[in-house]
Amino acid sequence: MKKVLLAFLGVAAMGALCLFCLFLPERTDIVVVGGGAAGMSAAIEATERGCSVVLLEKMSYLGGNSLRATGGMNAACTEEQKKNGIVDSLDSYYQDTMKAGHWLNNKKLVRLLVRNSAESVSWLEHMGLDLSDVGRLAGHSISRTHRPAGGAPIGTSLIPVLTGQLNKRGIDVRTENRVIGLLHNQKGTEVFGVLTETREGRQYKIKASAVIIASGGFGSEPALYVKMDPDLKGFKTTNQPGATGDYLSIVEGLHPALVDMSYIQTHPTVEPNNGVLITEAVRGNGAVLVNRNGYRFTDELAFRDVLSREILKQPEKSAYLIFDDQIRKGLSATDTYFAMNLITKADTLSELAEMLGIHPVVLSQSVQRYNQLVMIGEDRDFGRNDLPSEIIHAPFYGIRIVPAVHYCMGGLKINEKAEVISESGGPIKGLFAAGEATGGIHAANRLGGNSLADAIAFGRIAAREAASLACR
Ligand SMILES: Cc1cc2nc3c(=O)[nH]c(=O)nc-3n(C[C@H](O)[C@H](O)[C@H](O)COP(=O)(O)OP(=O)(O)OC[C@H]3O[C@@H](n4cnc5c(N)ncnc54)[C@H](O)[C@@H]3O)c2cc1C
Repeated sequence: MKKVLLAFLGVAAMGALCLFCLFLPERTDIVVVGGGAAGMSAAIEATERGCSVVLLEKMSYLGGNSLRATGGMNAACTEEQKKNGIVDSLDSYYQDTMKAGHWLNNKKLVRLLVRNSAESVSWLEHMGLDLSDVGRLAGHSISRTHRPAGGAPIGTSLIPVLTGQLNKRGIDVRTENRVIGLLHNQKGTEVFGVLTETREGRQYKIKASAVIIASGGFGSEPALYVKMDPDLKGFKTTNQPGATGDYLSIVEGLHPALVDMSYIQTHPTVEPNNGVLITEAVRGNGAVLVNRNGYRFTDELAFRDVLSREILKQPEKSAYLIFDDQIRKGLSATDTYFAMNLITKADTLSELAEMLGIHPVVLSQSVQRYNQLVMIGEDRDFGRNDLPSEIIHAPFYGIRIVPAVHYCMGGLKINEKAEVISESGGPIKGLFAAGEATGGIHAANRLGGNSLADAIAFGRIAAREAASLACR
């Protein structure tokens, strides 16, 4: 009888213990918040370093804004550039990035971005991403924007490759799990986990030795971007709906330093009705911009802030992107725009002008003048530094564009270890951040193609540093 009683008590105790386990927070080495390029790269890198990782993504799919990336990813001194006979230098890439950012960028972080860029490209290529096409986006002094062959959009190739790597490594990825807060000490100097909410509204905690915030920017949160820059009232956005700046509420109670919050980039060429971004690569490959009267009015490869301002000065605060069949064929990223019926097509420039409501004679003259400048190899009108080809191959194409909210340069302040810095100046122990949720790298204006370069490089740096803390 005594034995039976003891056995019963034993089973009951184990049951109680298991029940207790159910209410204990889970434990992992590292939690990654956000499943875009930065978060996915961080999760892969941390797993490579022997850490257990949980990646939490609030949307029902992975990719964030990274999935939408089209033009490509910057890197200097890569094998791909060498194969294409392009002679680049780290210094030239550094200068272009600093110049774009009005020299307000965090120099140390920019140096890291530049130094890590070629390695980021080979890391991705090694995982199976095709980055063999090297083009030139606005503001660059040389071709260094890497993308899949034929100028295909990068995001829809990159995210499946990274997803494949997450799966291959058996990383614990949870979509529809929104991080709503951090577990931290009372002083807010140390982080040891996250509080998460599922789609059904169940909240649970995960304890971790390090948390990497990679939750992107706030380009889909008008209340926030208009507060930061009132001039953006009424602007459309190119961003995915989940880009709502959650990191601001996640870090509540910790007092992290924020930098450059009022610097919000507009992309100059966005289709006004659907908010579809027309990649800079179209201009990079030779398209011109004209206003409603048919006149060219600017250097099409100027920095995004300059170009957006110039477009907003034109009649109806918009402009028209004009290109030909050769440009279309060299850039398969344009296929989507055609599939969506966004582009007007005509056999002659005057016909195209009629269809778009532009002055036909002036448009033909403007393109003729541009073609002459291409022939002499110098844009004497607006100083465009790259004139790839004449616009002469029918059919011709055009689309009306406006600037729209695109990228948040500001965010959490980080140091070279991607540690989040507190208002009082020191790093917050156990808290790292990468990608568009951070600020300082791009400053007043981001150079096209630098965001993915940033997300991959700093996602991996954050993972390395988090791993050295969490999985020693
Ligand atoms: C249309 C478009 C085209 C672009 N083209 C280019 C390009 O060609 N080259 C380039 O370099 N850059 C480009 N960019 C910019 C670039 O894609 C992004 O800025 C960059 O990919 C940001 O990466 P990220 O990982 O930091 O953020 P994201 O990719 O946005 O990922 C953040 C993720 O975090 C998730 N998240 C947010 N809050 C939470 C939360 N509370 N809990 C859990 N998950 C959360 C989001 O849902 C999202 O999936 C483009 C952007 C857009 C919108």
